[in-house]
Amino acid sequence: MRDRRPIIVPDTINIEAVLSVVGGLKASTRAAVARKLALSRTTVSTIVTKLLALGLIAEKNIQIEGRGRPGIILDLDDTRWKAIGAEYHSGKWSFVATNLKGKILADQTLKVQLASPEAFLDSLITGLRSFMDTVPGSILPAVGIGAPGLVDCDRGIIIRADDLGWKQVDVGPAVEKKLGLEALLINRNRASGLAEARFGAGRGVHSLVYIGIGTGISAALINAGELMNGSSFSAGEIGHIIMDTAGPVCGCGKRGCLHVYASGSAMGERAASLIESGRTSSLMALAAAKAEAREAGGSGKFAGMPELSGEAVCAAAAEGDELALECLSEAARFLGLGIANIINTFNPDKIVIGGPLGLMDGPLVDLVRIQAASWAMPHAFNAVTIERGRLGDYVGALGAACRVLDRKYTFALRGEY
Ligand SMILES: [Zn+2]
Repeated sequence: MRDRRPIIVPDTINIEAVLSVVGGLKASTRAAVARKLALSRTTVSTIVTKLLALGLIAEKNIQIEGRGRPGIILDLDDTRWKAIGAEYHSGKWSFVATNLKGKILADQTLKVQLASPEAFLDSLITGLRSFMDTVPGSILPAVGIGAPGLVDCDRGIIIRADDLGWKQVDVGPAVEKKLGLEALLINRNRASGLAEARFGAGRGVHSLVYIGIGTGISAALINAGELMNGSSFSAGEIGHIIMDTAGPVCGCGKRGCLHVYASGSAMGERAASLIESGRTSSLMALAAAKAEAREAGGSGKFAGMPELSGEAVCAAAAEGDELALECLSEAARFLGLGIANIINTFNPDKIVIGGPLGLMDGPLVDLVRIQAASWAMPHAFNAVTIERGRLGDYVGALGAACRVLDRKYTFALRGEY
């Protein structure tokens, strides 16, 4: 039968859509892609010819059951182009290079000595430069960057990162000026959420909430594969859900936010104050070193040593340290309460808990689940599963690279870096 659908001039949206379908279907013949996108066979064939020439897709001959001659299926070409992603957390940069299917081919980390915006930017530029030198083949001329705090994805700036005390950090413009690469900025936990949704614990999940717990807390709200940004990119800032209007002051200027009770910084501060009040713990040696650094005024043996961290508390809790477990349980109580509110409001199929602390061994996820169960509406709680993220340390960098992969046609057209 003659195909009566109109021939549409291939535009970028249709071309990226064809790439997305080719990446998602098991057996993407030209006909299957046309059906899926309601485009004519001619339009799809024109697009496919273009994409084959750019090295974005490849053809494979397969034997289709019931047919005499072999059929041709399309697949993303995983041999030519690489996408670059970077993410900053726990005082270090993680870099990855992936193929077009999101498989990590190379990775690298770079420790950043100071938690200042200048050190953050300088190390990003030098780190990217040296990492990209090690990646063979064609690199799409862009970089996805997972950054802390509230991020304006359109302008490429960190508006504010309250847990670090940063304001207005022009990341995108700096990267573009120094490296000549388009920078696609995204909040680091939103990036991790995207990666878990595509390749990890959230794969195939319709309504997903990813919660990253580190020095700060934020979430990715993902529906049908689409990340919700909100009107001005603050969708998912659950660290500032207010738990108590008379609570301690938060970095955002308000009082009693989830952040001041449940972030890694909050866990570390609680452990330090319990130790100072005379309680014993395996964390005492660390706390003593911290006190010594303070007394030495920054020039002693432990100068520059970070505060007692959430990581240290979670590690001690996993070893059974009673004081650390108490701090973790207190954080989990507030996290569970915050998550119960999210369950009631968004009614997700799944909540994935990640971030540097969420991925650590120990009882955090189980404690959070118990708390959420006791506060959420049973109807909504019965529909949700809560589990730990499945992707490792490079999850945020992989999610940032996804932002480049989503526009691979545009970047491939510009040529390689
Ligand atoms: Zn706050």
